[in-house]
Amino acid sequence: MMHWSLRRQSSWVQLAGHQGMSGNFQLGDSGEILKLYSGVEERCLENLMKDSLRAFVPRYHGVVTRGEDCYIRLDDLLSGLKRPVIMDCKMGVRTFQEEELLKARTRASLRTDMYQKMVKMDPSAPSAEEHAQKAVTKLRYLQWRDMTSSTSTLGFRIEGIMMEDGNVQRDFRKTLTITQATEVLLYFSRCHLDILKAYHSRLLALSEALKTSLFFRTHEVIGSSLLFVHDLSSKASVWMIDFGKTTPVPDSIELLHDVQWVEGNREDGYLIGLTSLIASLGQAITV
Ligand code: ATP
Ligand code: MG
Ligand code: MG
Repeated sequence: MMHWSLRRQSSWVQLAGHQGMSGNFQLGDSGEILKLYSGVEERCLENLMKDSLRAFVPRYHGVVTRGEDCYIRLDDLLSGLKRPVIMDCKMGVRTFQEEELLKARTRASLRTDMYQKMVKMDPSAPSAEEHAQKAVTKLRYLQWRDMTSSTSTLGFRIEGIMMEDGNVQRDFRKTLTITQATEVLLYFSRCHLDILKAYHSRLLALSEALKTSLFFRTHEVIGSSLLFVHDLSSKASVWMIDFGKTTPVPDSIELLHDVQWVEGNREDGYLIGLTSLIASLGQAITV
């Protein structure tokens, strides 16, 4: 289930996304990882390297071909860490693009794999019709995931956590409130105050950088994560990753990111999620 390979300095682990050898990641040169090429993500990374957010994004080193596939070269954020502890938080109040909504209306593709995931989590979730066809549309699945997780209420959801012993947890559907998120943060940090404080100040610095970011003003940021990383030496940092669904908005629009989404406004609620995370870390520090 988990893609796990050891290298000199780093223990590479992938918390989200398609796993394994057929997945989206390959080992790169020392200190780098390779992510399967996406033009959307490449354009974002090129822009981000010139933006005020640069210090919050793994460095992008261009593309490389391996076999038949093209890959994006990125700094490995786990490089140099011993027994890293990591958490992937998917940001925003929705995880589908407006474009996906339009596409789903014109030609909805039925997915049996997503129906099965849905039934596994909650057998009563699919409608009678969905049960009969043993399939749901991709949009229906994504919307259901958003509505039944903290995505729609807190503006982020925890996708996965890996502890220092390699144990991975991916089921955080019951983490729905700030206080429940705080409990996860306390567990994740093993209540180390210095780690929680480092995360807190890093997120405050990120919110400052977002205020002056041209990239942020002009992009709908969907499905992107904040990756929290620390190890026993207490080095703790947070990084913005995954820009495969982050797209520029038309010239006439500048996004606010802290208002609710209504179809057509393209708002992603990224700052709603960041505010929730900062509040949760604030609680964890004062416990
Ligand atoms: P999905 O869209 O399903 O979330 P994806 O294929 O777009 O997945 P990412 O979300 O970019 O992939 O990354 C998946 C996981 O890989 C992350 O949760 C993290 O554990 C790991 N990862 C990604 N980028 C890096 C990096 N630069 N350094 C270290 N680990 C990374
Ligand atoms: Mg991701
Ligand atoms: Mg992605």
